[in-house]
Amino acid sequence: MSRAPLTDGHGRRIDDLRVSVTDRCNFRCQYCMPAEGLEWLERAELLSFEEITRLVGLLAQMGVRAVRLTGGEPLVRRNFPDLCAMLARIDGIDDLSLTTNGYLLDRDAAALVAAGVKRFNVSIDSLQRDRFFEMTRRDALPRVLDGLHTLAAQPGVGRIKVNAVALRGFTEQELLPFARFAREHPFEVRFIEFMPLDADEGWTPESVLSGEEIRTRIGEHFPLVEEDREPSATARTYRFADGAPGRLGFIDPVSHPFCSDCNRIRLTADGKLRTCLFSLGETDLTAPLRAGASDDELEVILREAIWRKELKHHVGEPGFQQPARTMSAIGG
Ligand code: SAM
Ligand code: SF4
Repeated sequence: MSRAPLTDGHGRRIDDLRVSVTDRCNFRCQYCMPAEGLEWLERAELLSFEEITRLVGLLAQMGVRAVRLTGGEPLVRRNFPDLCAMLARIDGIDDLSLTTNGYLLDRDAAALVAAGVKRFNVSIDSLQRDRFFEMTRRDALPRVLDGLHTLAAQPGVGRIKVNAVALRGFTEQELLPFARFAREHPFEVRFIEFMPLDADEGWTPESVLSGEEIRTRIGEHFPLVEEDREPSATARTYRFADGAPGRLGFIDPVSHPFCSDCNRIRLTADGKLRTCLFSLGETDLTAPLRAGASDDELEVILREAIWRKELKHHVGEPGFQQPARTMSAIGG
């Protein structure tokens, strides 16, 4: 069955969904979670695989075609590859992807590729073991790199990206090692500007290492050539001018917001629809789902919420208010 496409009140077509499958995580990255963790959701509060599949199926009827699974750490959710297989079978979902910290990839890579996950983002903030430990509060770099290479060796695996959050005072030292890593492997290394979604509320405008600064610094050693940008792509990508494999990508939501092209919505692990990372309000889908709402009734709730999608974020503007939910509880 097909329904009218989803659009918001600013005329943007919505076809990209991020689904958080858990708020729990086995890491404690400084820019995301406090050292002691957060208060986790109760099991009963989490949407079941069937509930997630029903909502994604309905959104697919309204034109959503890309689904990225995230968390928390999605691989800590029990039987997670089963959910991937359920979502991959939905008509209309032609781009199923995953963001993971990689800690459990050695165990799960084959099952995830077999389940139909096409593209993978693996988060790695440093290629030096002690600095990785400092940032994630886990001494796990060797294990994550093993997982990344296990994933890359899977027959049929799609494009792999390595995500690094760009923090002033930390990431500068990582730039050339990451550039060399991208030149030696067929991965895209992406730098993501640090956003005010950290549980410690330590973000300041000065704590962001901008994409521009990173491009300049790397470009002095390895000249870069910008690639064409697809409409509604959040990243600007660059290849190496000398033809080395791999690429660099830059997600610059703070210095160059891409809100005017934003085609995304988010579903939290406890079934709240969020129309922006920085939304101060959200729409509960769990209660109507569990009260027996029909697809038509859910469609009305979804459309009304999406119609009110924020025009833009206000990061860095006077009066900006950080949302109560932090990145791991939203699903980045
Ligand atoms: N645990 C998985 C991981 O780390 O890849 C998935 C969830 S994590 C919240 C998704 C992405 O958000 C990761 O690439 C992470 O580095 C990024 N992230 C977390 N907090 C951030 C922040 N305050 N600013 C920018 N990116 C952030
Ligand atoms: Fe966990 Fe990902 Fe947040 Fe790090 S960024 S604490 S791995 S959810």
